[in-house]
Amino acid sequence: HNPVLAGQTAVITGGASGIGKSIVQRFLEAGANCLAADLNEEALAALKQELAEYGERLDVVKVDVSDRGAVEGMVVDRAVQTFGQMDIIVNNAGIMDNLLPIAEMDDDVWERLMKVNLNSVMYGTRKAVRYFLERGQGGVIINTASLSGLCAGRGGCAYTASKFAVVGLTKNVAFMYADTGIRCNAICPGNTQTNIGVGMRQPSERGMAKATTGYAGATRSGTPEEISAAALFLASDQAGFINGETLTIDGGWSAY
Ligand code: NAD
Repeated sequence: HNPVLAGQTAVITGGASGIGKSIVQRFLEAGANCLAADLNEEALAALKQELAEYGERLDVVKVDVSDRGAVEGMVVDRAVQTFGQMDIIVNNAGIMDNLLPIAEMDDDVWERLMKVNLNSVMYGTRKAVRYFLERGQGGVIINTASLSGLCAGRGGCAYTASKFAVVGLTKNVAFMYADTGIRCNAICPGNTQTNIGVGMRQPSERGMAKATTGYAGATRSGTPEEISAAALFLASDQAGFINGETLTIDGGWSAY
């Protein structure tokens, strides 16, 4: 039988760790060529080694997704040059904000979160849409938002605002281009076992106390594999009529 993404090319930002890494693995297994873009060069080298069985089907590149030129040139253009086409973009790279409530938040935290979590998604999506329109065969965009893009109590002020904005951007793109065969959806993971909290040294006391209330409804955290399964579904033709949707993957946490 034919693997679901056979002959397709996908680019995945933040592809060297956690959810992005699992998406890269799953898309390769499903037959796609993958370009994994990430800031962490060492993790990219380790990924290339770990997934050596896929050979030339996996390309990796060091990119800071908050840099528009890098996203356009080193991510989308590079994938098209290397593999001859791009069919799927997963705008997944993201960072956290120490659960800072607004009174404790400095401008630089706000700006950094908007650049890395939101501007990056806009750069990748805009470039992909322009490419998809020119090519005239549609295409798939998947943005990694978060439960924090749907609920107020799962992150700090900047993180929450950036993820709500990713959801809004996703829905607007879907609405504007639905008639062109472009599908744009967001995945909204709950708490997932990745490296995203590793750099979080001093979470806000207020933020932590409040978030702990929100965490009460979670039975367990998810695995990256449980999140990437949803991304594969949205990337596949099985999801051909799903557009502008947010897919929550949280084991029922938000139902609490
Ligand atoms: P992770 O830290 O394990 O992986 C994120 C990857 O993104 C890392 O490899 C990191 O190097 C890369 N990255 C960070 N900043 C970058 C930049 N400026 N340019 C390029 N690459 C950059 O974390 P993860 O949990 O897998 O995060 C992936 C996405 O999932 C993020 O958007 C995050 O907000 C979202 N998310 C995570 C959770 C969770 O609980 N882990 C929940 C909901 C949403």
